[in-house]
Amino acid sequence: MTKLSATFARYADRKVPRYTSYPTAPHFHDGIGAGHSRDWIGELAQGSSLSLYLHVPFCVTMCSYCGCHTKITKRYQPVADYAQHLKTELENIARHMNGRMSVRHIAWGGGTPTMLSHEHFVTLMQTIGELFDLDERAEIAVEGDPRTLDDECVRMLVEGGVNRVSFGVQDFNLHVQEAIGRVQSFEMTRDVTHRLWDAGIRDINFDLMYGLPKQSTKDVMRSMELATRIGPQRIALFGYAHVPWFKSHQRLIKESDLPDQHARFEQTEAAAGELVRLGYVRIGLDHFARPEDDMAIALANGTLRRNFQGYTTDPADAMLPFGASSIGQLPQGYVQNITDIGNWKRKVEAGGPSTARGLEFSADDKLRGEVIEKIMCNLSVDLEAVCAAHGAGAGVFTDELAQIDMLARDGLVVRDGLKLTVPEEHRAFIRIVSAVFDAYLKTAQAKHSVAV
Ligand code: SF4
Repeated sequence: MTKLSATFARYADRKVPRYTSYPTAPHFHDGIGAGHSRDWIGELAQGSSLSLYLHVPFCVTMCSYCGCHTKITKRYQPVADYAQHLKTELENIARHMNGRMSVRHIAWGGGTPTMLSHEHFVTLMQTIGELFDLDERAEIAVEGDPRTLDDECVRMLVEGGVNRVSFGVQDFNLHVQEAIGRVQSFEMTRDVTHRLWDAGIRDINFDLMYGLPKQSTKDVMRSMELATRIGPQRIALFGYAHVPWFKSHQRLIKESDLPDQHARFEQTEAAAGELVRLGYVRIGLDHFARPEDDMAIALANGTLRRNFQGYTTDPADAMLPFGASSIGQLPQGYVQNITDIGNWKRKVEAGGPSTARGLEFSADDKLRGEVIEKIMCNLSVDLEAVCAAHGAGAGVFTDELAQIDMLARDGLVVRDGLKLTVPEEHRAFIRIVSAVFDAYLKTAQAKHSVAV
């Protein structure tokens, strides 16, 4: 057995979080509610910069691999009603703020936010413009579905000021698309990308996946080659997480059609090699960007961040959540809105934040969160510098360093005093190295996905 395959055998099926937050969402609790959100938003210092996340939990059809909070509807009325409530929620939250704040980043996620009508989307963007100072360099990003993104929708995005669109693509091979219940031709994805570029929306992301049913390494390589032939600015490559006990529609996927751990590892490494060969910069766990893209530049200058949307260049002081199930981050902690759409609407009508759960940061959470974010973004961390920035002695990580030394014996990490670096060939295991610093992990291991 080669050194890498021996390492793989030991670590690949460990269940570890993806660390889009620390502490991670399974540790949120209902002891945090609307009162906390109101207080924490009110305590934001004047001049703080904000990021807004708006969740639209509706889709026209269900993709069998879907892991998102979404609901299928063929009618527009529930979406129209939801849009009205989003407007009210924006007004409610703005009332709790200590003066007007500037917005640096807006992300529309779902579900399918491009299901909103032209009128509703533009009205919501105008409402944001009336309630907040929208920075002229603000990134306004929307998740779009190429299968339904018509010319009217392109006009809506342009009028709404959108400058980045992310497309779910997953795989370009028909037999894989049929196995995941989402057929979307190469030509369709290419043409909608070109229409957006022609309309002036230059920043396009593709989301691709490995580990899908009936997907081989050859299929993944072909998808990478076709994706780069179109040439989006960024590509995210996510591993499919099969959790049918949590997402019942995933029962449509036969487990016997899924690639095993070794095949998944081969797929992710082959895809990454192909994307790098074709000129993309590899970023963190699962992102790739063209060298001139802001994310590649942020990686090079050390300002790359990680939040609930994955890797980001967003430098805002706080992220405010809007819509059912949305998660936000304030300097004091995380807040998550009610997941059930009916209950969320009732809370919005009552005028308050719709927070159902969250977590207040301890000093230790903030310290560990920064260590983990640095490993996940930069593949390295200087523990002495992070501890100093948090007023902690480096001795706080004595137990963790003993575990790091064990990982170092397998080559997963290189330790030079208090400086840790994950070697390029073991990049796929950065979650394992990060997990050493996770003080909550022992109680929740079963809830997370496998490391590769
Ligand atoms: S379009 Fe996206 S959010 Fe909607 S069902 Fe498919 S994967 Fe899920």
